[in-house]
Amino acid sequence: MISMHDVEKTFGDLHVLKHIQLDVPAGQVVIVLGPSGSGKSTLCRTINRLEPIDSGSIAIDGKTLPEEGRALAQLRADVGMVFQQFNLFAHKTILENVMLGPLKVRKKGKDEAKKRALELLDRVGIANQAEKYPAQLSGGQQQRVAIARALAMDPKVMLFDEPTSALDPEMVNEVLDVMTALAKEGMTMLVVTHEMGFARRAGDRVLFMADGEIVEDTDPESFFTSPKSDRAKDFLGKIL
Ligand code: ATP
Ligand code: MG
Repeated sequence: MISMHDVEKTFGDLHVLKHIQLDVPAGQVVIVLGPSGSGKSTLCRTINRLEPIDSGSIAIDGKTLPEEGRALAQLRADVGMVFQQFNLFAHKTILENVMLGPLKVRKKGKDEAKKRALELLDRVGIANQAEKYPAQLSGGQQQRVAIARALAMDPKVMLFDEPTSALDPEMVNEVLDVMTALAKEGMTMLVVTHEMGFARRAGDRVLFMADGEIVEDTDPESFFTSPKSDRAKDFLGKIL
């Protein structure tokens, strides 16, 4: 579902992604771990071309990402992304936030977009907040809106970049629960997170990154109980 082949990415002199090879089959939940600056966010951002790559190729569901234009907009719509910051439109209601993409990008009719948005808000547990504005919601609720908004585009893949890092601790689980449910329903997911409990519970696979490379690529149990590289051992020693 996600296929990256020989991907290289630099920012000036800084080589941030080094010959990345990655194949994520449909339905797999991939957890991305690694120290700060190792390239986790950049990896996510290249997958929907928020960041252009220097060389190599990236395909979503067998279709290679084009450089630009209408085809890129279409393919990008297949990749939902949820960030640390929720990035909701402050002057639109929760319902309007979730309806916007389907109306503008997917060219859905208003009634259909509204019906689907309400279903999704119900699924993330906040249908009763539909007419409120983002500032009237808690951080955990806003992040669940951001997830509903991404899902409204019917993405084939969901990318999460530290979705709970900006939340107060008591709100972390309500967001992780939504993500766990999504994983169980078979969504293909790539999740950058520091939530190790979630990683072990919901992950099918762990990528450990260091200095722009995928250093380990294994199942969560093996990674947490017997990391192979010194860098992974060092990383786990600091966080567990
Ligand atoms: P963190 O855990 O702190 O979020 P990360 O693993 O997500 O880190 P990235 O944000 O992908 O790391 O950054 C990888 C490297 O690329 C870092 O050295 C960072 O400073 C650099 N970098 C990221 N974005 C840019 C940019 N737009 N311009 C220049 N350098 C950048
Ligand atoms: Mg990051």
